[in-house]
Amino acid sequence: MASTVPLTQGNEVLAALASYRCAYCQSAIAPGERWVRERIFDARTTDDAHYRRYHADLFGEEVLSCWEKHQVAQQKAAECAA
Ligand SMILES: [Zn+2]
Repeated sequence: MASTVPLTQGNEVLAALASYRCAYCQSAIAPGERWVRERIFDARTTDDAHYRRYHADLFGEEVLSCWEKHQVAQQKAAECAA
């Protein structure tokens, strides 16, 4: 039988972890894991610095980290736009 965790339990801990979430795979970045911070330039919110974080570590058999996959995707998007 699967165990369930009540939503009312440990919300403060979840909130703290949620502030460091990978923008690529949407998973929480655990303390001690390497990550890359990307600054987002948004003309509408110039005084409010906005950042995204990405895993910099490789998972299991993966050959690219979330950060590298994100960069590859951006390059492909730039090539398509050119
Ligand atoms: Zn990730």
